[in-house]
Amino acid sequence: MTVNKVYIAGNWKMNLHREESVELLKGLREGKIPSQVEAILCPPFLRLEGAAELLEGSPYKLGAQDVSKYENGAHTGEISASMLKDLGLSYVIVGHSELRGEGQTDEEVSQKVRAALREGLVPIVCLGESEEEYDRGLSLETVARQLEESVLSLSPEEAEKVILAYEPLWAIGTGKNCPPEVAQEVAAHLKGKLKVPVLYGGSVKGNNAGEYLSCQDIDGVLVGGASLKAEEFLTIVEAAL
Ligand code: PEP
Repeated sequence: MTVNKVYIAGNWKMNLHREESVELLKGLREGKIPSQVEAILCPPFLRLEGAAELLEGSPYKLGAQDVSKYENGAHTGEISASMLKDLGLSYVIVGHSELRGEGQTDEEVSQKVRAALREGLVPIVCLGESEEEYDRGLSLETVARQLEESVLSLSPEEAEKVILAYEPLWAIGTGKNCPPEVAQEVAAHLKGKLKVPVLYGGSVKGNNAGEYLSCQDIDGVLVGGASLKAEEFLTIVEAAL
């Protein structure tokens, strides 16, 4: 992956019914996306097909929030990487802490990364420490272990195609911001191990995005709550300039 773009990715999580999704997408299309920004939207699976139609001809790229580790077949409820590719998607979030919290292991994350890469999708792999680990000064150690087990366990050719997202668990959806200097330190640590783009995620809003985007080793942001409002998302895009 190239490290010369600024990635602004929105994770809608399990939000927005059809009409709400259409309204948000229309609002987003009215905004301007500068050429150096890669604006990525990750709606729920059910909203992807409609979003692909509404975004046709726009600079936005689409991503999913998860992908099956299996290729196809008898896996009830799962969505394969080839199905996502078939819809024209470019990205997929893998190993979000909300899924890791429900039992997804580093090994499964690495299987999902491989499944995504097989179809040419770019995995955005989430890494992050708990509040207890943060308080004990274990942030670097925790993300390094997750990186080792979920990405560096793949071949170097595979590993260099991912994007990493540092998302401290205690900062997600809490309004508690990770100090930008800490996010920078973690991003630099990750880049020292794997030279790929590193995003920061955790309570990023229009009024604080610039603090992260100006950090030397942070190449973008992964945004949850603030990606559900067109104006707020576009303000974050502007902060990348
Ligand atoms: C996320 O879900 O990846 C996230 C960063 O959420 P929020 O921006 O709401 O903290």
